[in-house]
Amino acid sequence: MQPYKPNIHSNKDYQDIGVNREHTVSEIFRKKNTEMQAKYTREHKPYCFRCANLDFDDSIERQKQESIRSHGFINWKEISIEIPDLDKYGNINRFQFLKKSPIRQEKIIDGVRVPIVSAYWHEFTCKTRNCGHSVEVPLKDEALEQEKKIESEEVKKPVKKNE
Ligand SMILES: [Zn+2]
Repeated sequence: MQPYKPNIHSNKDYQDIGVNREHTVSEIFRKKNTEMQAKYTREHKPYCFRCANLDFDDSIERQKQESIRSHGFINWKEISIEIPDLDKYGNINRFQFLKKSPIRQEKIIDGVRVPIVSAYWHEFTCKTRNCGHSVEVPLKDEALEQEKKIESEEVKKPVKKNE
């Protein structure tokens, strides 16, 4: 076997294209990930921004490492840099619900300051890397959730009777 001598000069142009592509796609990815985080926050749902970042970086790093192992240099032709479907980082099955705690705001009732529950923190942990998440849920969404629970319990009831 001939010792491997990478011809760095002839690969230079392709290297530049590869590095630029990684840089460009990474920037698009970071922007999209931030937008997704904002979208889920607006919907009062958890979204694992951290896992999305780590998975994206890991995927590129792993491919680069494998390429170096095979060729002695990064062969950008075989490296795929794609923006993943980010909705999977907001899939509720990804999270374990831990607890909810009230957020109180003081209101003046009859001239007296009274702490009133204005919303709830819903705390989750991401099952993949134990990332912690706190989501602010307004009272109206809390009420909706309670309704949903009651509805689903009512649907289940006749099934249980037939068992
Ligand atoms: Zn996570």
